[in-house]
Amino acid sequence: MDAKIGVLALQGNVSEHIDAFCLAIERVKKKGASEVFEVRCPADLAGCNALAIPGGESTTISRLIEKNHLHEPLCNFTGGIFATCAGMVLMATDVADPRIRTLGLIEMAVDRNAFGRQRESFEADISVRGIDGGPFHAIFIRAPVATSTGFDVEVLARIDQGIVAVEKGKHMAFSFHPELGGDTRLHERFLRMQGI
Ligand code: GLN
Repeated sequence: MDAKIGVLALQGNVSEHIDAFCLAIERVKKKGASEVFEVRCPADLAGCNALAIPGGESTTISRLIEKNHLHEPLCNFTGGIFATCAGMVLMATDVADPRIRTLGLIEMAVDRNAFGRQRESFEADISVRGIDGGPFHAIFIRAPVATSTGFDVEVLARIDQGIVAVEKGKHMAFSFHPELGGDTRLHERFLRMQGI
């Protein structure tokens, strides 16, 4: 399949996702066209077969999704979504913050800013199911965790504080930032899941 990867570009670390997907596509793709581009409106979304929702501030991204009339199109998007950090918050079904209208695409309860002030940001080598080559160096920045997941959600990684990586159908969501650090194994797994 041609790779037409959109990156939701309303707020947050958009360019890092574009760079990481370009690199991952180079690594997995043997033939066919590929494009990685910014998504800001429903027409942009209609042109992609997979989407990244970056980290940033989930309350702000949620507000901008509404403003740009993207809530329904995102809920009905048929491709896979690769969601990181604030993106993971938006994918959940259950988030205790009235400012956020989640997309509800992965059945899970997510606790925002789960690490509190002292450990707002940290790095850890964690083991993630579904990738070869040893632990993944995970960068957590004011990260959420999932506190519970639905029966059809596969937990890929868990640390003491909670669940930090999940997969559901074609979607993946992470508490940490796989787009930082140059290790594209999770992006590559995602692309293969889309048949790219
Ligand atoms: N704490 C942020 C939020 O809940 C997420 C932080 C991030 O995406 N790096 O929106």
